[in-house]
Amino acid sequence: MFYLTTSSKLCILRSKSSSRKYFSTLFVKDGPYNFVDGQKTHPIDSIGFTNVLNPATSVVLAKVAVSGANTVDKAVKSCEEAYKSWSLLSGFERGKLISSLGQKILENQETLAQLEVENNGKPIWEARLDIQSCADCFLYFGGIASTVSGKHIQLPNSSFGLVKRESLGVVGGIGAWNYPLQTCSWKVAPALTCGNTIVYKPSELTPLTALALAELAIKAGIPEGVFNLVQGSGETGKNLCCHPDVAKISFTGSVPVGKNILKLASNDLKRVMLELGGKNPLIIYDDCDLENAVKGALLANFLSQGQVCSNGSRVFVQRSIIEQFTKEFVKATSQLVIGDPLDDKTQVGATISKPHAEKVLAYIARGLEEGAIKLCGGERIQMPDPFQNGYFISPCILTNCHDDMTVVKEEIFGPVATILPFDTEEEVIRRANQTPYGLSAGIFTKDLRRAHRTSDRLQSGTIWVNNFNVTPVELPFGGFKQSGIGVECSTEAIQCYTQLKSVYVEMNDVDCPLYNSK
Ligand code: NAD
Repeated sequence: MFYLTTSSKLCILRSKSSSRKYFSTLFVKDGPYNFVDGQKTHPIDSIGFTNVLNPATSVVLAKVAVSGANTVDKAVKSCEEAYKSWSLLSGFERGKLISSLGQKILENQETLAQLEVENNGKPIWEARLDIQSCADCFLYFGGIASTVSGKHIQLPNSSFGLVKRESLGVVGGIGAWNYPLQTCSWKVAPALTCGNTIVYKPSELTPLTALALAELAIKAGIPEGVFNLVQGSGETGKNLCCHPDVAKISFTGSVPVGKNILKLASNDLKRVMLELGGKNPLIIYDDCDLENAVKGALLANFLSQGQVCSNGSRVFVQRSIIEQFTKEFVKATSQLVIGDPLDDKTQVGATISKPHAEKVLAYIARGLEEGAIKLCGGERIQMPDPFQNGYFISPCILTNCHDDMTVVKEEIFGPVATILPFDTEEEVIRRANQTPYGLSAGIFTKDLRRAHRTSDRLQSGTIWVNNFNVTPVELPFGGFKQSGIGVECSTEAIQCYTQLKSVYVEMNDVDCPLYNSK
C-alpha cells in the first residue's frame, strides 16, 4: 500500500494520507520554549532566533529564541536556589521523584516519540526505543539514588574518617541533536540523583522534547528550579560554560566543540565531562555467524540515518569471507525502506538538515575521488509530496577503501559504511586502533578467546561482541582518547556528578610535637 521501488532498488514509502499533518500540533510556533522555575518563559535577552525544522519536510515547527547571558544567569540562579533544598533531601526521597519522572515518560511515550520524529527525522520505531531508554534511565537512577553514599574508615586509637560523597551544585548540560531526549535524560537523571540541579541547553536543531521533559518533571513532583531549560545556539552554550556559578559542564557533541568547551571551562577549573565523536571499527572475523554479522553491520551503520556517535563505519572484514559478507551486506542495505519517518514501515528517515546532508554527500564524493567504489546508495532521494524538501540519503556502502582515505579517517555522521579487508588478528587490532578516537568497537566471531583477546587490546570505551550499538543503562558509556572524558549511565556516572570530602575525626588528645608544654 505504501511503497514504490526505485532504480536503486530502495523501497521508498509514500504516505497516501493527505489528511495527515507533518508538523506538531502540540506546540505553538513561537514559544515560549525556555523552562525556568517551573514555568515556560521567554528569554529576557534573546540574541536572535532559530527556525526549528521538521527534517523530513523542512516545515518550520517552531521559532525559538536564542538565550543570552542574562537568561542563562537567571536559570543558573534559579537552580542555585532550588539546590539549597534539593541537595538536602535523602537519596531515597529524590529517587522516588526521579522514578516518577520515568513513569511519566512511559505514560507519554508515543507523544514524545512522535515529537522526536518530527524534530529529528528518525523513524518512529527508533524514536519509541529512544523514549523507552529515557524512561529506563530515570527508573534506573531513581532506583539507585538511595545507594549513593560515602564510607567510614577506621583509623588508629578509635579515630576515624568519613569519606563523604557530595553533590557538586549547579550542573550545565549541553546536548547534540541526534538523540535529543536521550542525551538530555542521560545527563539530567544522574545529575539530579546525586543532589545537583541542572540547567540544560539542547541542540538548537532539536529543542522540543527536552522542553516536554522539563514540563513532565514538574508533573512528576520534582521541585521548581531543579531542572531548568534554556534554548539557544553555541553562544548560549558558551555562556553556560563561562558562568562562574556552574560547577560542572556535561557536554555531548563534536570533538572540536568539546575541545573548545574544555578551554572555556579551564578559566575557573570547572569539572568537565565530554561525550564526543568517533570513527569506530567493526571487526568481522571469518569464523563469525555471517547473518548475525550482517545484522550487526546494519545496526552499526544505518540507525538514525547513520547519525550515531558510536557507529562502526570502518567495517574490517577478514579476507576469506569478504566477498560473501559484502554481497549479503549490500543486499540487506539495498532493501532498507526509506520514507515517511512517522510510518511504522519506514526503516530509514531523513538526515537532520540540508547542510548536514550536503556534508555527507560531499564526503561520499571525496571517497570516490580517492578511489572508493560505491556498491549501493549514497544518493539524495527525491521524495514525493509532502517530503520533497526533506533530505533523505540512501544508505551507502563503499568498497576498495584503505586506511588513509578521508572517508575512513573522519567521522561522516551519515549512512556511509566503508569496507576494509584484513588478514590477521594482529593486523586488524593495530589498524582498528589507528585513530585519535576511541568511543566504541564491535567484534563478530564465534571464538570466545579471540573475542576477549581482541576486546582487551582495542582502545575503545565500549566494545560489543556479536552485536552493535546496544546501550543498556546499566553499562558505562564513554570514550577513550579524543572521544571523551567521563562516562554516562551505570553506577559509574555517580562519580562524575559528585565530589569526595574526607572528614578526619580525632577521638584523642592532639599529639603535637610542635607544642611545648609550660
Ligand atoms: P556540536 O558540537 O556542533 O553541538 C553540540 C552542542 O554544543 C549544541 O547544543 C551546540 O549548540 C553547542 N555548542 C556549539 N558550540 C558551542 C560552544 N562554543 N560552546 C558551548 N556549546 C556549544 O555537535 P552536534 O552537531 O550537535 O552533534 C554531532 C556530534 O555529537 C557528533 O560528532 C557526534 O559523534 C557527537 N555525539 C557524541 C555522543 C556521545 O555520547 N559520545 C552522542 C551523540 C553525539
